[in-house]
Amino acid sequence: MTSSNILIIVIDALRADRVLNRQKTVNIPEIDQFAKEACVFSNAFSTTNTTDPAVTSIQTGRYPLSHGIINHGNRITNKEKQAIEQVEDLPMMLSDIGYRTGKFGRPLGRWHRRGFDIYPDPMEEGLAFDRTLSRKEKFQAWLTHIESSVGSSLDRIHPGIKTTMSDIYHKLTPEFLSQNHIRASIADNSSNQVLQNFQDFVQKEDPFYAFVHLMDTHTPYVAAADRVVSLLKENEYSVKRISGIEDKIPSSFTERIFSGSYPEIREKYYFPDGTPSSAIVDAHYDATVEQSDARIGRILDTLKNNDLYDDTITFILSDHGESLTEHGIYYDHHGLYDETTHVPLFIRSPEGVSDTVNELVQITDIAPTIESYIGAERLNTDGNSLLPAITGGQFTGYQHILAEEAHTTRRRVIRSDESKLIYSLNSETICRYCGIQHAQETELYNLTEDSGETTNIAAENSEEIDSLREFAEKKATKYQNDCPTTTSSEEKQYDDEEKIHEHLEALGYR
Ligand SMILES: [Zn+2]
Repeated sequence: MTSSNILIIVIDALRADRVLNRQKTVNIPEIDQFAKEACVFSNAFSTTNTTDPAVTSIQTGRYPLSHGIINHGNRITNKEKQAIEQVEDLPMMLSDIGYRTGKFGRPLGRWHRRGFDIYPDPMEEGLAFDRTLSRKEKFQAWLTHIESSVGSSLDRIHPGIKTTMSDIYHKLTPEFLSQNHIRASIADNSSNQVLQNFQDFVQKEDPFYAFVHLMDTHTPYVAAADRVVSLLKENEYSVKRISGIEDKIPSSFTERIFSGSYPEIREKYYFPDGTPSSAIVDAHYDATVEQSDARIGRILDTLKNNDLYDDTITFILSDHGESLTEHGIYYDHHGLYDETTHVPLFIRSPEGVSDTVNELVQITDIAPTIESYIGAERLNTDGNSLLPAITGGQFTGYQHILAEEAHTTRRRVIRSDESKLIYSLNSETICRYCGIQHAQETELYNLTEDSGETTNIAAENSEEIDSLREFAEKKATKYQNDCPTTTSSEEKQYDDEEKIHEHLEALGYR
């Protein structure tokens, strides 16, 4: 058994096409350099469209149906929680065999914390990257904002008034904190603290398992305005009119454009009535891809500066992608189209090869890869080890991959290299977020001719649908049977943690 260090970096909601075979001049030197030294999986897929079940798939090596977490955040039922409590995952196993275990960045629900020696607490300062702020940080940000608005310090305000302000603040917080500039102003300080924590963690003696979860590419896409402007100038973005899009753009950016700066952007990417086009949000997303890249550089530099890089197997991937405007899904991760399910996956092991693997693989393969790499096969996973691929051996991927949509609508996909069937699992086909039905209940796509999944050929292919569906259901039933038995009902009960999730979801932390 080798006691190599293990690092997983997950970039939340990063689309595969922003890093692999990209069309735009997105500047990601760190990932590009890493890719040169790594095994690049060009056909890697998530098991779902949302973070909680996806990260659970990464940590357990199991499909959502098999590990039990189908939904995300405040939609997760007691039944789901009861199931996952009975499933062992990577941090538990690695901790048990002597690894130090640490999570950095986005904190998640309670089962995600099992096995970790250190885990970011949403109510503590300095542990999360930039998305989940402590109450004290949020309040401080609010005060700073007021101070900058009124142009003077609030230090001499009567404490009673401050208490009242605090009360008001806690009533206003969802609306107020959804303002991007507040989040942005805190992002960098918090990130520095996380990097410091990461550095302290990796420097100690025993081998480590570190899981870094970056949130830049998740809404709201908080990006430096200068870089957004440059991207808009350097690239040809498509111009679409989407209602309500103004809310997705920081007011400071809009003000800058309308102050007369960059008339060419105003001309090209805004409609004559002043409405921004989709290009403005797309460019913000791209700028956050670059920000993630810079963070990855700092994380990898921490390893390099401490002579740990070549003693570490490093995974870079996303939990799911993001639909920017495709399929009528605007800047969120619903649906089972490739924009949301196709993820980048890079694995660099010190003795590995630099190669591109086009075989179909899934995020369930990470845990078995780690197990076979360190020679400690113990988890009951659904995935395959990718070790043969990353060491240059013979490797065959899947014929079909399976994934579940939950949280927004309940759907399932079975996808090969050539075709894709998506079907509804219940009669509730209206998207919970958008209030519309995004597509017909059954969708079949010929990916060879229609990689954008724009022409539904379900109507004329009922036989193919039947056989694909039967195959998918057989697989699903197997995974469902592997899921631990539960006695809880599907009803959900709110506890403090759910309330925090509810609150975060109201802030847009989906
Ligand atoms: Zn939707």
